[in-house]
Amino acid sequence: MDSHESDEGPVLPAGAPGTISAGRGQSRASKCPCCGRHAVRPTAQAGRIYGYRNVALTLPPDLQLPTCSRCKHVLLSFESMPELAAALERTYRAELIRRAATEIARLSQVCSQRKLEVILDLSQGYLCRLRAGNGVPSASLVSLLALLGAEPVRLEELKRYWALPVANQSRAGSRRVGA
Ligand SMILES: [Zn+2]
Repeated sequence: MDSHESDEGPVLPAGAPGTISAGRGQSRASKCPCCGRHAVRPTAQAGRIYGYRNVALTLPPDLQLPTCSRCKHVLLSFESMPELAAALERTYRAELIRRAATEIARLSQVCSQRKLEVILDLSQGYLCRLRAGNGVPSASLVSLLALLGAEPVRLEELKRYWALPVANQSRAGSRRVGA
């Protein structure tokens, strides 16, 4: 396993002071904080998973991360790699777009996109655009689409939900409206 989750991961806010000084992509190895060898170099590799926001992201295979060739430790921090934040955000957005398109295609088999838009109060054509990869959906919308796609009968439940007044469960019935 080479991916190194969390700890010194993107807990740091972007914009931490560490601006790069030395040139990038050259071959001088730096010291590994894990094994102490001078064997850390920018390394690209496929199949690295990284926990970012609410998603386990597969990092782009060509993303060069400072990696120890001895112990495989990966320095995943904004300090060691200032462009990491942007790369993660790009990957995250691409993941949202990809997942939305997949879920919309799945739901389209049981419900027309227009009907879905009405039920979810989305503007006309929005799902079509998302399905085509235009626009970045929110993670909340993707979550909802995923849940509905897994259990499409719940679309009916949603319609009923919005058709009826919501049951008032507040404070033990202490106050009634319009007393
Ligand atoms: Zn090492």
